[in-house]
Amino acid sequence: MSDIEKNAGNQEIDTDVDAVVIGAGFAGLYMLHLLRDKLKLKAEVFEAAEDVGGTWYWNRYPGARCDIPSHHYSYSFSPEIEKEWTWSEKYAGQPEILEYLEFVAKKLDLRRDIQFNTRVTSAHYDDARQRWTVKTDTGREVRARFFIPAVGTLSDANIPKFNGHGNFEGEVYVTGRWPKEGVNFSGKRVGIIGTGATAMQAIPIIAEECSHLTVFQRTPNYGTPLRNEPMDPEVDRQVKANYRELRKQAWDSFAGVPFDRLKPSALADSPEERRAQYEACWNDGGFSLWIGCYQDTLFDKEANRYAADFVREKIRSRVRDPKIADMLCPPVSQAYGTKRQPCETNYFETYNRDNVTLVDIKASPIAEITPTGLKTADQEYKFDILIYATGFDAFTGALFRMDIRGRDGLSLKDRWSAGPRTLFGLCAHAFPNMFTITGPQSPSVLFNMPLGIEMHCEWIADVIAYMDREGLGAIEAEVAEEDKWIAKTKELADATLLPEATSWYLGANIPGKPRVFMVYLGGGKNYKAIIAESAAKGYAGFVMEKSR
Ligand code: FAD
Ligand code: NAP
Repeated sequence: MSDIEKNAGNQEIDTDVDAVVIGAGFAGLYMLHLLRDKLKLKAEVFEAAEDVGGTWYWNRYPGARCDIPSHHYSYSFSPEIEKEWTWSEKYAGQPEILEYLEFVAKKLDLRRDIQFNTRVTSAHYDDARQRWTVKTDTGREVRARFFIPAVGTLSDANIPKFNGHGNFEGEVYVTGRWPKEGVNFSGKRVGIIGTGATAMQAIPIIAEECSHLTVFQRTPNYGTPLRNEPMDPEVDRQVKANYRELRKQAWDSFAGVPFDRLKPSALADSPEERRAQYEACWNDGGFSLWIGCYQDTLFDKEANRYAADFVREKIRSRVRDPKIADMLCPPVSQAYGTKRQPCETNYFETYNRDNVTLVDIKASPIAEITPTGLKTADQEYKFDILIYATGFDAFTGALFRMDIRGRDGLSLKDRWSAGPRTLFGLCAHAFPNMFTITGPQSPSVLFNMPLGIEMHCEWIADVIAYMDREGLGAIEAEVAEEDKWIAKTKELADATLLPEATSWYLGANIPGKPRVFMVYLGGGKNYKAIIAESAAKGYAGFVMEKSR
């Protein structure tokens, strides 16, 4: 087929490719590798940033790092990459993870098929041709059989529009869009809105560098210590010698990271045993207390209350002023771990510093952004730098920013207006040949994401290979199967305490977003078995069309 062709509307289509992938984070990079190097297809990647990295390109705020150990938070598909790369810390910082992704891109020669500084604005499906037409803000128009938005579940920064938005005359930063050149805090008064996982990483470091930091907190969080440390060369050697076994253990665990202390029930233990277990998990750091401690922590209110009380007690022991400690302790009505567990380093101790002020904006909400700072209902605050650490429009934000239209011009935004509709979080009815990676209704953000990404990319590559072998031109989810999957996702979530929280897992952080729990909570291993079984049965649950 010629590269320059006329389409039905007589407009020039400048390229025909097998697949368009959007995004050059963990997902887009691996997807490109599989499509191009394994399936020998022609694939083109569009990325809004000027280089690879995704999350780790954009989130350069001070303190950004992973909270799944680096040996796990990395690709598993290439023993060679595993062997060649050495992490310098137990939990790598953003610069090192970015360097790792740059290393992978170079090793696999991926950049030559990625168009950087290019944002995809629309993608429309043409049923008659079984093709997607993808347009970019640089004027490109590309036609592809497969459309793979690997746009990230946490890539669309949420910037609340308070009264007076845009009026602040000092420097304004968004953590998820942090400038490459960094920010000089020296001698500056800083205001930061938000106390989620991002803010908890950034606040202790900014506090050390600036003259004064004011933290605007709407909801206190159950942060627990990360306990990062330099990589022990002996640990690294052992991991590398046993990587296959380690990855197997990761796959066998609920969230894609193994924990060896996990016990069935907090209720079954005596108070002394419980205390010892909590202390041990607390000392392990990371997610140990959250998902590596007791299996019923996120299922049973009483079990949850024990863990919540334990964390509250720890917060109080770390903060000198009891009034500030009160403000930092999540209330009993907020169950532990139902919002994503933030892992921190010296976060609570930071409030013992003279140059840090905590403001409760639930009690006294932000009334207005002013040229010199902000006003709450009862006070005015002045600063030189304003930081939004206000999270993301998760799961659907980056998808809805594009004009995605499936069969008969149906818009994805309209189709999903009451919440995402997918089968396995991979495909959607009326959007043939569109695949999402770690999308809504998959284990997604409640699973070690590089592993989840690999699972999805490999499934997608397999289905494309199958379609080519069988002469098939289109695949989409059956409506009834979507309905069953949505019900299954809801049923699994409803068995836990997670839907009770006002979290971004439910879209509750974005005004007007439907409150639907968007993560499949059956565990990565079960999920993998389900999607593998569908594939083994000739992609049961999906409708396939012959190639036209
Ligand atoms: P992303 O890395 O988000 O990449 C998506 C890319 O798509 C972006 O570069 C974006 O610019 C691009 N894009 C989006 N829309 C368009 C468009 N219309 N046109 C062109 N380009 C577009 N997960 C874990 O499992 N463990 C962790 O410890 C962990 N730590 C995290 C820390 C932070 C600060 C954040 C924000 C997330 C963290 N995550 C973690 C989740 C993290 O997002 C994933 O682990 C992973 O990096 C996602 O990769 P991805 O390729 O799916 O998406
Ligand atoms: P977040 O958890 O959604 O936190 C956003 C913060 O901003 C919350 O404190 C929120 O308050 C506040 N906020 C949002 N809108 C507001 C408004 N209109 N008014 C006042 N306050 C507002 O976002 P995040 O901290 O960026 O983290 C998002 C996810 O990214 C994490 O959960 C995690 O999955 C990932 N992440 C991981 C790490 C890591 O350690 N590896 C680090 C950072 C991020 P409310 O709680 O009241 O909504």
